[in-house]
Amino acid sequence: MPELPEVETLCRQLEKVIPGSRVRSVTIQDAKLGEQRGMERKKVVRVRRLGKKIAVEFADRTRLLIHLRMTGRLFWTVKEEKIPHTRMTVSLDKGNLYLVDPRRFATVSADSCGGTAEGAGGTKIVGLSAEDLMTKARGKRRSVKTFLMDQRLVEGIGNIYACEILHHSRINPSKKAGDLTPGEWTKIVRSMNVILKKAIDCRGTTISDWRDLYGLPGAFQHNLRVYGREGLPCFRCGSTVVRTVLSGRGTFYCPSCQGGEGLSRDSSDA
Ligand SMILES: [Zn+2]
Repeated sequence: MPELPEVETLCRQLEKVIPGSRVRSVTIQDAKLGEQRGMERKKVVRVRRLGKKIAVEFADRTRLLIHLRMTGRLFWTVKEEKIPHTRMTVSLDKGNLYLVDPRRFATVSADSCGGTAEGAGGTKIVGLSAEDLMTKARGKRRSVKTFLMDQRLVEGIGNIYACEILHHSRINPSKKAGDLTPGEWTKIVRSMNVILKKAIDCRGTTISDWRDLYGLPGAFQHNLRVYGREGLPCFRCGSTVVRTVLSGRGTFYCPSCQGGEGLSRDSSDA
């Protein structure tokens, strides 16, 4: 599933090629997406990420919003191509943007972007402070890892990035979110920015099917410190990386540098 770094990668790549270009046509190949009328001749001024949505903004202060969900991908080609599982083709002066989505969960909508505060955070990767997180976590008995993966909190931190962020900040994934100290939240925010920025620089993580705008795999899988490394030595301390299950998700951590005490079982993680 594309997460924050993958969606940000697509936005940055699109931002380099489509602003200044005009829409020639929008062709919907899958009726489930709904119609997108009146896009012709609109001029693209900007592309940016809004949570996990890709917002293509036009000069008339309207925008096209694309949410990739589970298996959605965007591909850009200068020449027209036939790509299997294409659900929408946006033809522009400079080339063609394809929404490809084998499982058909991706959604597309259009609205006006005039004067809304949404996404005004600009270039910030994570628009939350340690204080924000601590306030939201107050009294929460869920594990910090499950908390970080709550899409209502920070859109786009999935299982892989949650594991890596917690290893980077040396915090045990099973620790109850409500029990973290201000210092621990500060570490988490710092680690979020480090890990997500690095993942964006690597154009995302390709463990199975993620590809960037040009069909190329990302490279952050080569930088994983705990995810998928059960039984292998921790890169930081040499102890063996362990896998446990939290809220039904495989969770990788180092019991030595992330502390082994206070581990909750899956059942107490609700
Ligand atoms: Zn370690």
